[in-house]
Formats: sequence, structure tokens, C-alpha cells
Amino acid sequence: ALDVAWARRWARESAAAIAAAKDELMELDRQIGDADHGENLNRGFQAVVAKLDAQPPPGTAADGDPAASPLIADVLKLVATTLMSSVGGASGPLYGTAYLRAAKVTGLSVLDAHGVVALLEGALEGITSRGKAVPGEKTMVDAWTPAVEAAIATADAGGTPEDVLEAAATASAAGAVATVPLLATKGRASYLGERSIGHEDPGAASSAIILRAAVRAAG
Ligand code: ADP
Ligand code: MG
Ligand code: MG
Repeated sequence: ALDVAWARRWARESAAAIAAAKDELMELDRQIGDADHGENLNRGFQAVVAKLDAQPPPGTAADGDPAASPLIADVLKLVATTLMSSVGGASGPLYGTAYLRAAKVTGLSVLDAHGVVALLEGALEGITSRGKAVPGEKTMVDAWTPAVEAAIATADAGGTPEDVLEAAATASAAGAVATVPLLATKGRASYLGERSIGHEDPGAASSAIILRAAVRAAG
């Protein structure tokens, strides 16, 4: 079930996957940015793991302790505030806002298929409200937009919550690869103009990694 334990596993799986992909993300950002995306995100997710480790085991803390709250939203808020304060760069506030908006629409204990859609829509809405990018500008929006579209289609077709996550992760990976031929018009990569063409956007790549981690956490 996609419950609060899943949300915690998702955060930890994301941290492990971002650590494993750190050099690859640095290399992508070296091509069209300032080579820090892998380090930025890895620092943020390691801080998330440290905060999760510092929490008392679920259910053992005093009543009213937010650490013991059984809500998915609380895990997402912890990720949001931690990434906002520790990632830096363009992606810190963008991912922070994504998790914060995702948390707003998931004040439930267990997500059904449409709950997964709402979480993903919230994340995309957070990214676009913060960064003002539209699809096709070679940003993380190009991973999250097809993810949300695939999630909606899968939920409407009667898919399980896990099916919806799988569809979103697969679509985000395709969306990240599809940023290669795009011209960057937002963020640091836009300074390169035409020279941004021919490289995968690092934020789109990391978004696909994080969504794949959500699938593994559900497995
Ligand atoms: P910085 O560019 O400040 O060094 P990072 O390297 O951590 O920050 O993150 C770069 C990523 O942020 C890009 O690959 C892109 O996906 C994303 N990004 C930058 N600006 C925007 C924006 N306005 N909207 C959406 N995503 C953006
Ligand atoms: Mg960078
Ligand atoms: Mg930077």
C-alpha cells in the first residue's frame, strides 16, 4: 500500500538513487550548467535521510509529535523543508516547492490511484508556479509533465496506485531523454543558447530517478 511507510521508503530510495547517480548528474550539469546538480541534490537527500534517522520509530513518540504523525503529507513536508534549506541552486527551491505542493494534496494515510495523480499534479504545479517554465524549455518540467499525463491516463483506465506510479516513472524517463534536442530557455542552461542543444537536462534526469525510486519503494 502507498502509505506513510512507503513515503519514508521513497525518501530513502531517492537518496540512495541520487547518491548512485551523483557523478552522472554532475556530468550532465557540466555539459550545460555549472556541474553541481549531483552534489546539490545528494547533499539535500542525505540531509533528508539524517532527519528520518533522527525521528523516533513510527508510533512511539508522544501524542502531537509531528515526527510520529501517520500522514504521508508529513513525510513530504519534511523532504520539502530539508531540500529547500540544503540543496541550493535553482533546483532546491523547485524541488522544495514540488514536495510542499505534493504534501498539500495528500493529507491521507493511504493513496489510491487518484491520490497518486493528485500528488504528482501537486508536484508539477509547485515546480511551474515557482519556476514559470512551460513544457519544451528543457527543464525538469519536461519530465514531470508527461509523468502527470501518464498517471492520469492510467488512473482513468482503472490502474492500481502502483500502476499509476510505474506509468509516471516510465513517462518521466522518456521525457528526460526527450530534452536532449531541446533548446534551453530557462535556468542556467539558457545562457548557452544553441549550445544547450544535444544534452540531457540534469533536472529532468534527476526527476526521473526520483520517480523510479517511488516505484521501487512501492515494490
Ligand atoms: P543551478 O542551475 O542553480 O546550478 P541545479 O544545477 O541544482 O541548479 O539545477 C539545475 C536544474 O534546475 C536544471 O537542469 C533544470 O531542470 C532546473 N531548472 C532551472 N531553472 C528552472 C525553471 N525555471 N523551471 C524548472 N526547472 C528549472
Ligand atoms: Mg547546476
Ligand atoms: Mg549551481
